[in-house]
Amino acid sequence: MDIIFNCGNCGQRIVVDEAGAGLATECPKCGQSLTVPQAATLPQPKPPVPANEIARYRAFPWRWIIGAASALVLASAVVMVRQDQKIKALEQRVADLERAVGQLRGSVAGVAGMASHAERAVRHTPVPPDSSQRWNGP
Ligand SMILES: [Zn+2]
Repeated sequence: MDIIFNCGNCGQRIVVDEAGAGLATECPKCGQSLTVPQAATLPQPKPPVPANEIARYRAFPWRWIIGAASALVLASAVVMVRQDQKIKALEQRVADLERAVGQLRGSVAGVAGMASHAERAVRHTPVPPDSSQRWNGP
């Protein structure tokens, strides 16, 4: 296996057999004195992205979209619950108002009843004979 490294001076790519690791050499291009690095000290090429990482990155937007969608669903559910509560409160208020209207109608009817009773009482009041307005009776 070869050790591949670059000249620190000119950047020339140098290939040395691994048997030369740690030995002094010269750059074939610029003549710079170099020490062949140990294979292990070479910067390792970027390891391929693990499959699960790719899956995670690919899944990420979907997860985000699903998360956003479920957040929206949750928010709209909360809004619906709030609207439902609002509607229930309004229905309660309407029921209260209807009850109040019913009570008012009852009082109006009571007043009307009292009025008609009073009217009847007035009508049944004997009219003095000398009154110019004769009462013909019911
Ligand atoms: Zn060089």
